[in-house]
Amino acid sequence: MRFAIFSDIHSNLEALEAVLKDIKGQRITHLFCLGDIVGYAANPSECVEVIRDLECYAIRGNHDEMCIEDHPDMEGYNDMARKGLEYSRKHLSREQKNYLRDLPYSGMFPEYTFVHSCLHHPQSWIYVLSYREAALHFKEQTTAASFCGHTHFPIIFEDGDKLRAYPGITRMELAKDKRYLINVGSVGQPRDGDNRACYGIYEPESRIFEFRRIPYEIEKAQRKIIAAGLPELLAARLKAAM
Ligand code: ZN
Repeated sequence: MRFAIFSDIHSNLEALEAVLKDIKGQRITHLFCLGDIVGYAANPSECVEVIRDLECYAIRGNHDEMCIEDHPDMEGYNDMARKGLEYSRKHLSREQKNYLRDLPYSGMFPEYTFVHSCLHHPQSWIYVLSYREAALHFKEQTTAASFCGHTHFPIIFEDGDKLRAYPGITRMELAKDKRYLINVGSVGQPRDGDNRACYGIYEPESRIFEFRRIPYEIEKAQRKIIAAGLPELLAARLKAAM
């Protein structure tokens, strides 16, 4: 088995297509989408269609959830996020919204758990950025490894004799006697200073997890954001990866 695990596409079709093209050459047996298919960029409807066609295992992100309702409470979302959500909501069909509505908050696939944000109250969308949140998450984790997205920051948390974090790591063999939370980064809006699309490959047999960084047509995605009347900052952010 070889898993490809990706998250936080955020309506960036160029990044999604580049990642899927890379996945084609990776002998992948299972595909997992960890949510936030929509929001921010210019192609929410197209990205939902691509994911639906993949028939991959998918779970719900907070931006997906915000597009299900016609008038959700957008408190806590900044202006950029609100504009992206309003745009997504306007461009998604009823059927596509129903698809997003059916996505679960988390899922288990024999020995692995998948969640968008954090297993501690998944519907609260906690950002696991420090040991404090990682500890809350591990309290709920019953499998040896789990995978998440949400922060757009690729990182591995290890729960052994003590908690450890591995930001910036590109490849890791998971120890048999420890537990892991792996944030697979973001396909469509990386925020770790590397503007290439990010996703992960995990091979249960060798226990090796690997981050992959894929260049894509950033300028094309930026032009579409501007043409759609979305905030220019959303376009600038793709290049800056912050
Ligand atoms: Zn996101």
